[in-house]
Amino acid sequence: MSECSICLGERHIQINNQWVRCRCLEEELFNRKLIGSGISFPLSDLTLTNIGLKYPHITIDPIILDFSVKLSNVFRTGSKPDKIVCFQGQADGAKDLIVQTALLGAIKGGLRVNQCSMEQLISNHFTGGEISLEDELTKADVLCLTFGSELQFKVSSSFLQSLVRLNWLHPKNYLLLHTNLRWEDIAHKYGDNIQNLFVKSTGKILDPERRIIFAEVEV
Ligand SMILES: [Zn+2]
Repeated sequence: MSECSICLGERHIQINNQWVRCRCLEEELFNRKLIGSGISFPLSDLTLTNIGLKYPHITIDPIILDFSVKLSNVFRTGSKPDKIVCFQGQADGAKDLIVQTALLGAIKGGLRVNQCSMEQLISNHFTGGEISLEDELTKADVLCLTFGSELQFKVSSSFLQSLVRLNWLHPKNYLLLHTNLRWEDIAHKYGDNIQNLFVKSTGKILDPERRIIFAEVEV
């Protein structure tokens, strides 16, 4: 690694007789935060501008794209949206980029991010340490949970419902969901009552009782 030309490797510089962190140290700390938050995309890719060029084989719903940009901007101010959002799309596709761009916004807004899969959540809950769902939700400002690839659908269904309830009790913590399951698959795998939690983003129903906005990235 080449030495920083500003601090010459001291990592701190003096301004008005006060030692402050050099930009190189700030950058390193920020990158560590990204890694710690599970951000897997290179920083330069985490932008929603020209996202269509990155995924030319799919059509991204422009309403959802606009919604995603706004979500990221809300996070950047350190705030959280009113409703839980669940992004749907193929794994390793535009959906993941949208989710991670939102999380980058959250990190830039000073929020702590915890990314987890339903499989991990179930395993954390039932093995060894027995971490409660409340602990999982409250250990960071944003719990970003991916679901749909686990096998224990009954457990997942009850966990999802509990997390939504807990989020109601802990409004300072935010639950961001993403899945590769389609709308129809959710009821099929998690039981019919799970759909009472969701409202489809493009649908006309804006039932205030429904806590989760289901945002389909690909059309
Ligand atoms: Zn430096």
